[in-house]
Amino acid sequence: MSGLLLMPVQYGAPSTSYQDDESLCSSRQGLIRSQRSSTSTTPEERTALKRDAESTYQDSPFTSLRLSRKRLLIFTLVLISLLVLSSLFTAITMHSLSSSTCTSLSCVTAAETLRRKSAASAAPKNHSISPCDDFYEYACAGWDESTRIRAARGSDWNVLLETSFNTHDKITSMFGRLMVNPLAMKDLTKYQLQALTTYATCMRESIEDATEALLQVYKEFGGWLSTAQDQTPIEESLLSAYRTNAVSLFNINAQIDAKDIRSHTVLTMEEAVPFIGSPSVYGAMPAFSVNDLLSGRLDKHWVKSVLFAAGHELGQQLGMHETTEFREALAQAVLLDYKITRCSPSLDLERSGPVVQWRTTVGELRTFDDLFDFRYFLKIFIGREVSARTEIVIGPGREYFMKLMTVLREYSTPEGQKIIRDYIKFKQLFLLSIHSGKLVQSKELGGLETLRILYTGDDDRSVQCINRVGMANQLGFASLLERYWAPHLQENMDNARKIGESMRREYIDALRKSTVIDEADRAAMIDKAERIRIRVAVPEAARDVDSLEEEYSMIPNGNDTTRPWAIFFTTVMGNRHWKRTADFGKPVNRNEWPVDTNPFNHNVHYNYETNSILFPIIWSLEQYLDSRLSSLFSFAGFGSIIGHEMTHAFDFKGRNFGSTGVDRNLTVGRTSRNFEAKQQCFLDQYTELGELRITEDVLAENLADNVAIRLAYKAWKAQDELAKKRLPGVDLTSDQAFFTAYAQNWCSVSKGASGTHSVGKLRVLGPLQNSRHFAEAFSCPIGSPMNPAKKCSLW
Ligand SMILES: [Zn+2]
Repeated sequence: MSGLLLMPVQYGAPSTSYQDDESLCSSRQGLIRSQRSSTSTTPEERTALKRDAESTYQDSPFTSLRLSRKRLLIFTLVLISLLVLSSLFTAITMHSLSSSTCTSLSCVTAAETLRRKSAASAAPKNHSISPCDDFYEYACAGWDESTRIRAARGSDWNVLLETSFNTHDKITSMFGRLMVNPLAMKDLTKYQLQALTTYATCMRESIEDATEALLQVYKEFGGWLSTAQDQTPIEESLLSAYRTNAVSLFNINAQIDAKDIRSHTVLTMEEAVPFIGSPSVYGAMPAFSVNDLLSGRLDKHWVKSVLFAAGHELGQQLGMHETTEFREALAQAVLLDYKITRCSPSLDLERSGPVVQWRTTVGELRTFDDLFDFRYFLKIFIGREVSARTEIVIGPGREYFMKLMTVLREYSTPEGQKIIRDYIKFKQLFLLSIHSGKLVQSKELGGLETLRILYTGDDDRSVQCINRVGMANQLGFASLLERYWAPHLQENMDNARKIGESMRREYIDALRKSTVIDEADRAAMIDKAERIRIRVAVPEAARDVDSLEEEYSMIPNGNDTTRPWAIFFTTVMGNRHWKRTADFGKPVNRNEWPVDTNPFNHNVHYNYETNSILFPIIWSLEQYLDSRLSSLFSFAGFGSIIGHEMTHAFDFKGRNFGSTGVDRNLTVGRTSRNFEAKQQCFLDQYTELGELRITEDVLAENLADNVAIRLAYKAWKAQDELAKKRLPGVDLTSDQAFFTAYAQNWCSVSKGASGTHSVGKLRVLGPLQNSRHFAEAFSCPIGSPMNPAKKCSLW
């Protein structure tokens, strides 16, 4: 998978929504004088104009001279002719203005949207930045600084997040209005009502409820540490934790089979998310022992101190005494978590090239029965016997699996089995505590609170509750949004299809004409572009009663006060996990929507295996697809992202997959060599701009951005007659407005690049330096920073 931003937010994983690509937008520069609308004047200018007017008046013949009749007649004649000429001139001007300026509501709104973020609304002292010097500053200088209040959370801030928060605010006020209006409530479908109830229940939760929930699970365990008599098989311990979606050791699931997306699901095995949220944190840690953890040798390492502090807090919350046994068990759990995580291919420094899935069978896995009985495990999980021939796909590959089995072998003694059992239980309690949100008792950083922020972010309870509704009530929530918040959603969807297809046409045209592509590869590449499936934003299933009914049945009644939220939510997620697996082997529901519908998920994905692009719901709700706004926004936003994602189909990973996703070697020989030569140009350019990470992943994202803006511009020009008209009141030509709208998608404040994308500023400067259309639109002289003589291009 490769996202526009980052990998998907996995339940149980730290939130990645807050680590999007950012860039510094430190100086608030202004729109340059020559670009400013002639109707707007600064106070200084207004004073000067007034002064001029007054002096003219004082010099006028009416006040300074006593005129003769003759002179008065001549003067009157001249005045009349001047008036006639002037009104003629005005008529001509008005006529030409009305034919070249779009004054429809959509254009006025579009103009206002552009103006708000750009330098036009920035402080007057910053009005001097030239678009040819630094277009990022030019476009983002007026980006509302007040929104930075939210950035004070210590995270990065950008336009995408801002859009999510604005959407969140609108949704919560919509929920608020509904909840005080019994008549409107009566009008909801039961699915919509269920979503609303989930939200209300989440908002009502108190610390006491959350602690109660933890204690309830704790009691069901019969305590955390298992006794010597406890012989529960590891397979059963793991399944019991899966009930509340607490995934440890590894994650077994049933997913749509990439080989045959129409007919069936396949069993998959993926890595579990470690305690500390991300494998990379353990990657930097040298091997250690339980004694190292207990003796204090690792006290300075934040992983150790945070995990131990979290364990201590959790113990306190549950009334456990911090005995030597408790501390040892905690150290064992941390060590096991570390060992399991180190099996991850993402931490294998010697690995080169992409991770290759391992397709094996349940029968083959029987050789590991003494370590983990997969057939027994699957029988309980799926609810029936599975045959030895049943296929299972090990996502992180064969090597990962073998390493994992080696770890399990280390723990195959009775003492080792106890450590695994305790580890699984501890992780379950730990995740329950983390997911009870802001309700953890200690607000001290360093322990649970630090981990909670890593997992769920540090936002208001309502942000978390909206997120959870999108995950738990995926379809009910979408249906509620469609009805009450965005009744024009259907038009936006039509807009999406239209833009998607015109981007595809441009892309295919580019592939057809490109000299980079060898004739032997061209047909296959075009075929691949033709078959990319674009799925947009609103799950089709939100209108399908059967799907809604299925979701309804997985959710316990939110009004049930005996079910504290912390358990309620994790139970729903566990039910979903369980249901998906139990459905293994049944025909695929083509309407199934693989991501949640919370508005904080903006990660657009290109999936290499299924050759498809998926847009989460936020892309249909705001300016990116709003059919009521001028189409330049949809093309500069949504359209350019389609161009970006389509390019992933042909990047260093994408070339390993054919049009149905599974064939190998899409391009061979000359195309690949040409491609590499083209890459060097971009590599030099981005290094010059300050991107110091020279990796294939980072380069692939930057290539994608470059193709994206070029094709989005072409597609927009090709279809839109409004593309030739100016927007009112911003004094930007339509082309200038297009590039400004593009840049304004990436306004951001950030502490540096994260993930594989460059910071927002580079996502603007890099592609636009290479665009001749951009240079023409702003008349940038050759050799100016935004119009270097050397240009890089891909296709
Ligand atoms: Zn990308």
